[in-house]
Amino acid sequence: MPSQGYRGRFAPSPTGPLHFGSLVSALASWLDARANGGAWLVRMEDIDGPRTVPGAAEDILATLAAFGFHADEPPQWQSRRTGLYRAALDRLIASGHVYPCGCTRKEIADSQLRAHQRNTTLIYPGTCRDGLHGKPARAWRLRVPDDAPASAHGNPALIRFHDRWQGPQQQNLATEVGDFVLLRADGQWAYQLAVVVDDAEQHITHVVRGADLLDSTARQIWLQQCLGVTTPTYLHVPVVMNAEGEKLSKQTGAQALDASRPLEALMDAARHLGLALRHPAPSTLEALQAEAIDAWKRRLAQLPAA
Ligand code: GLU
Repeated sequence: MPSQGYRGRFAPSPTGPLHFGSLVSALASWLDARANGGAWLVRMEDIDGPRTVPGAAEDILATLAAFGFHADEPPQWQSRRTGLYRAALDRLIASGHVYPCGCTRKEIADSQLRAHQRNTTLIYPGTCRDGLHGKPARAWRLRVPDDAPASAHGNPALIRFHDRWQGPQQQNLATEVGDFVLLRADGQWAYQLAVVVDDAEQHITHVVRGADLLDSTARQIWLQQCLGVTTPTYLHVPVVMNAEGEKLSKQTGAQALDASRPLEALMDAARHLGLALRHPAPSTLEALQAEAIDAWKRRLAQLPAA
């Protein structure tokens, strides 16, 4: 159904050139925006100073253009938006949703081993919730609701949402995540804060991205509730794995895309998304795009309804 108000985005981290995994996310977000008659934006998530590679952002923008993806507004750069993140953190300080934390990673890992005798994801035990215990402040954490399974109004720690591709989702923020960091000990803004502030400030209505971020979504929804901003709808597409079964990424050796041969890579990306193209070998980008938009609509019609 066409929606005048639809605003989607592709938000790459410029830690290297665009690879096949990020092409799949770009294609899915672009197709969903176009299939809905909406706007498609690009946001450079260059907030993580130490991981940002000089020149990678420009390279990604040039590759997107070569693949026929043209944003409807000039790209935004997170590194130029830190004032917005500061203002959001100040609001959360004023409303008591965040607190300074003096714990090191090692202290958290040790407490976890003692408490649970398991070592999966690090769940912050809440040591600094009631004060720093004489330690210097290192990071700022967002308080998550306490686990209250027997509550008459439902468990406030349980965040439920419908993912347009993956179906119904839920995560217990208290038992599966714990209070999480918004401003890191090294002074860097955390991805969770930046992405929520930007999605809200850019009036993003539909988030379409890789399923590796499914696990972050409940945190983002809780943060949206703390900030009093609207929650977009979410769609997480299957991630691309390498031959070893690892998520394709710069760290697992993903190859840069060849910007001089966009058609083949786009066909592969469409195949990864399970898109059935009626003409299997369109010879121009425009023809492929038109085919893929129709195929995306048909694909979405097969997915679980909300
Ligand atoms: N910058 C993130 C990444 O490249 C994506 C963030 C998002 O789409 O929410 O993994």
